[in-house]
Amino acid sequence: MRTLLRNGRIIDPSQGLDVIGSVLIEDDQVIEVGEIEDLSDIDEVYDCTGFWITPGLVDMHVHLREPGQEHKETIQTGTQAAAAGGYTTICCMPNTNPPLDNPAIIDFILDKSASPEAGGVFVAPVGALTKGLQGKELSNLGAMKRAGIVAASDEGFPVQNSQLMTDAMEFCVQLGLPIMAHCDDTSLSEGGVMNDGAVSAMLGLKGTPRTAEEIATMRNCLLSLHTGCPVHIMRVSTWGAVEIIRLMKSLGAPVTCEICPMHFTFTEEHIGDFDTKFKMQPPLRTKVDIELLEQALQDGTIDCIASDHSPHASHEVDVPFDEAPYGASTIEATLAVTLTNLMHTGILTPLETINKLSTKPAQVLHLDAGTLVPGETPVAQLTVIDPNVEWKFDRNKSFSKSKNAPFHNMTFKGKALLTFCGGEIYRDALFPSERYAIYM
Ligand SMILES: [Zn+2]
Repeated sequence: MRTLLRNGRIIDPSQGLDVIGSVLIEDDQVIEVGEIEDLSDIDEVYDCTGFWITPGLVDMHVHLREPGQEHKETIQTGTQAAAAGGYTTICCMPNTNPPLDNPAIIDFILDKSASPEAGGVFVAPVGALTKGLQGKELSNLGAMKRAGIVAASDEGFPVQNSQLMTDAMEFCVQLGLPIMAHCDDTSLSEGGVMNDGAVSAMLGLKGTPRTAEEIATMRNCLLSLHTGCPVHIMRVSTWGAVEIIRLMKSLGAPVTCEICPMHFTFTEEHIGDFDTKFKMQPPLRTKVDIELLEQALQDGTIDCIASDHSPHASHEVDVPFDEAPYGASTIEATLAVTLTNLMHTGILTPLETINKLSTKPAQVLHLDAGTLVPGETPVAQLTVIDPNVEWKFDRNKSFSKSKNAPFHNMTFKGKALLTFCGGEIYRDALFPSERYAIYM
């Protein structure tokens, strides 16, 4: 079986490549990229004129909710949503019920995500750093690494004890396992439901001060510097956190960081009439934060863009703001939000955009993804993107089980139209049918 993706703009940050050309897939492998001379025995052709051909997108921060909260999302629906969003590899977070804190449950995740009913994307699990996400005792990280975890994290329940975090980093250095750190000093943030400031005072809601994020960011960066443990800072939201990361990188700390689309799109003002879709942890900040986060995206201080896809059921979010859970359903819109708000505005070039959505996340977590170099990934992982198509996100047409989607009814410019992981796993209705031909 030989599949040709013809005449697209090939954007592969792993090779610094941004050229017009074609990609040839044979038996689920990329075998040639660029100007392809041998066009004999082609079985199918996708005409990609005017579209981008990129390495499959990599989402390093996704909540699949299975096991334990299948009413919000399942491995099947979450991976289908990922494929529709242009992703071919995703990392699932350990705050399930029970948490991902032992090898048997890692086996379960890997088996289920590889089943034919699932969306066809690779799922790389992130194991709980401490048993039961309790922040008291390290999990059996060695056994979980052998089972297939790609990083360790306590996600929304970050380790508060600095001695335990030091021990964790010293151990993870030996294991060659990166730590993903949600940075939050809970003695400062406890009970907070939005950014602490004039808007929280006006709405009468308890605020989370930016210092909660920044103190924890500083601590984790310092521990990374002194232990040598690679630490990936999850979902930065304040200009202060970014300044700390910039400084600590300059001192040689092996730290990287990500931003989620909510935090470069919306501010605390969007909470307006107590809309629970905008309740985030860390909270949405201010216009000044967004301006400085954009600069940090541009200068490379912010390495990656991740969805932090956090599905919740309608009955869970249709409650008073204080009682609602944190997070939003975002995986199907993250690429479009990024193209619209960062690429079309000139903040990121196309190459930088795909780097932050694919190549860099793969490099940070040592994943077999994020490149179009033949033979570098177990099967062909690539995404075809129309950067200019205008469309409106409709949560009622989404694959995700949950509808807590703040991007609902917003119009975007740019969309993934085809996703390949091995063969085609998703074809969008906006992909023109006359651009596909089969010769078998
Ligand atoms: Zn998360």
